[in-house]
Amino acid sequence: MFCAPYKQKTAGDGAGLYYTCRAMKSKELVREAKQIAGSYRVSEGRGLRLKDYDPGDTNGLKDKKEARKTLERGVELLSEFQEKLYAQDRWALLLIFQAMDAAGKDGAVKHVMSGINPQGCSVTAFKAPSREELDHDYLWRAHKAIPERGKIGIFNRSYYEEVLVVRVHQELLGPQSLPQDLVGKDLWDQRFEDINHFERYLARNGVVILKFFLNLSKSEQKKRFLERLEMPEKNWKFSMADVKERGCWRDYQKAYQEMIRNTATKYAPWHVIPADNKWFTRLAVASVIIDKLRSLDLEFPEADKDKRRELAQVRKALVEGKD
Ligand code: ATP
Ligand code: MG
Repeated sequence: MFCAPYKQKTAGDGAGLYYTCRAMKSKELVREAKQIAGSYRVSEGRGLRLKDYDPGDTNGLKDKKEARKTLERGVELLSEFQEKLYAQDRWALLLIFQAMDAAGKDGAVKHVMSGINPQGCSVTAFKAPSREELDHDYLWRAHKAIPERGKIGIFNRSYYEEVLVVRVHQELLGPQSLPQDLVGKDLWDQRFEDINHFERYLARNGVVILKFFLNLSKSEQKKRFLERLEMPEKNWKFSMADVKERGCWRDYQKAYQEMIRNTATKYAPWHVIPADNKWFTRLAVASVIIDKLRSLDLEFPEADKDKRRELAQVRKALVEGKD
């Protein structure tokens, strides 16, 4: 089971015991996160079939309450990693979320990032492009939003819409005003190729990329849509456009499958996360992020000789100061 409650009886002072237990819990958490992350990671997508992935899967976990507790601890651990990421100021982390409506993108972002210092994190939601955005290449708006070193950037939808909604509704290509000669049958393959190059470029510049496809079933989407209609506080989340897109379900599944097949790479893997159980979706997303951050061996930068001398002077000034 994912991180059973940890009990340890040892003699010694309270604080020491607290930190020992904490460290061991973290170790256990990290181990379990690695297992979950590995179950859903796709680094090579050739031949992948989405129908082989069960949206209701919970990786053998049944206890929602236990999972929630584990998520809480996971969020604490994430926040520890984030502090180091920020202090070290070398890597940036880019998290990309793609999914059908009501798959739980917003909830996953909200819960998983709840312990994160907002100063080190930004969320960008990509909606239908504006006139100005349409006048540029499609990566332009995304590139501007890539997180800087030390920070975490979350893309709620992304440039992947260019091979999803635009592929399903090809009339959306019209307003992009591309030169006619450049719009041929190879367009989608070219976009995959360009996206892979873009991501490799980012990876080579220290941007760690994790991509999440929240894999929702059509029946669960219906249930969530009906809920949104029935609960006044959820009405705002619902629009006729969502139902229209639901009508294109098969085309979307095909487009997602093609997308993963062509853009899952070692340097920017996809994760096909089961999305029919929100509690598991959140735990799985957190696990993937924990597993990756752990692998970066993040550490607080050590003060060098000059810095230590400076700190000693600061201390002296403070101690000897009159007030
Ligand atoms: P979400 O649906 O992500 O929860 P929302 O309902 O608040 O967010 P919407 O107004 O639905 O926001 O905006 C997202 C819409 O923008 C989606 O239908 C998406 O397909 C569309 N979109 C995003 N990027 C593009 C793009 N490059 N070209 C065309 N449409 C796009
Ligand atoms: Mg929407």
